[in-house]
Amino acid sequence: MDFSQSISSPRRRILWAKALTPDAGAGSIRGMKIVCLDLEGVLIPEIWKAVAEKTGVEGLLRTTRDEPDYDVLMRYRLDLLDQHDIRLPLIQEVIGTLTPLEGAQAFTAWLKSQTRVIILSDTFAEFAQPLMAQLDYPTLFCHELVVDAEGRITGYQLRQQDQKRKAVEAFRSLNFEIIAAGDSYNDLTMLKSADHGILFRPSEQFAAENPELPVAHLHDELKAEILKVL
Ligand SMILES: [Mg+2]
Repeated sequence: MDFSQSISSPRRRILWAKALTPDAGAGSIRGMKIVCLDLEGVLIPEIWKAVAEKTGVEGLLRTTRDEPDYDVLMRYRLDLLDQHDIRLPLIQEVIGTLTPLEGAQAFTAWLKSQTRVIILSDTFAEFAQPLMAQLDYPTLFCHELVVDAEGRITGYQLRQQDQKRKAVEAFRSLNFEIIAAGDSYNDLTMLKSADHGILFRPSEQFAAENPELPVAHLHDELKAEILKVL
């Protein structure tokens, strides 16, 4: 075995330590930082809105922007799906036609080349899968659906309550500095518990309610905000 390639060799240890230095050059992994991104509204379109447009069920247009209580919103959505007999395969067909937001693929590729990136989303694994491929499979923490044998969505399983905030707090407890970006109310505890929170394309009301958070409207602007603190 060639031990010169081992991480424990002195030369490798120096190289590894250098790669984790906060001021490491462009293309290096920046030390001790993680960027946590919301998914819908930041990298991909709102999935439920796409389903509403495809099925004509207007009630599905409600999002976390309209209803901050996620559990209330989800129970409302599942009731509508049941009333209109909209099942998972149809929803997955709609999601299969979606593409990431313009600029999101290049932005994600750039960000992954600079630092650690974790997507913290309130979507469901069953919905996200086809779109993750288009973003080159970033790490995704999200929830899961409960689906019966006929494809009816009968419920959902949260990974945990307030998972975005808890993930940020857990990463901070591991000595990481957290940069977080999101667009809506379900991101607020994540943004406030991060070291640096950034709003991406928020509603005017949401931005006005959180004047301390910088706002980016384009992925290049989000990149510039991240670079200020990376
Ligand atoms: Mg969002």
